[in-house]
Amino acid sequence: MATIFSKIAAGEIPSYCCAADEEFYAFLDINPMAKGHTLVIPRREVDYIFDLEDDELARLHVFAARVARAIKKVIPCVKVGEAVLGLEVPHAHIHLIPMQSERDMLFSNPKLKFPEEEMQAVADAIRSNF
Ligand code: AMP
Repeated sequence: MATIFSKIAAGEIPSYCCAADEEFYAFLDINPMAKGHTLVIPRREVDYIFDLEDDELARLHVFAARVARAIKKVIPCVKVGEAVLGLEVPHAHIHLIPMQSERDMLFSNPKLKFPEEEMQAVADAIRSNF
């Protein structure tokens, strides 16, 4: 059975798309820790990120770096932080989170909610800077 993230990458479930190519897909986290919080996934279904082949893992990170640079242009922040958890969705993904301070990387923080139009505008801006 396809994971929810596979369905998102295939366009079967809507998402705020930030970047895409034939191998990887990036979209806004629906329960963000900061404005511009983005998830980057391989289209190939692998649960645990460190089970990816070495070259695929490297390409995923290069793709994520390009997404992070686009996020940094759109969202004023000190740096874009990267985190990998994967405790909720069994499909490898990298969290990219614009940071103002170390606190922004605390996954125990209450999640934020932005209006749909704002989410769409952020995703569109990231995509056009990618
Ligand atoms: P984790 O697997 O612990 O890294 O967490 C999964 C992340 O995916 C959480 O931050 C969720 O908010 C996010 N998430 C779950 N479902 C969706 C969805 N349909 N669209 C965007 N983000 C999602």
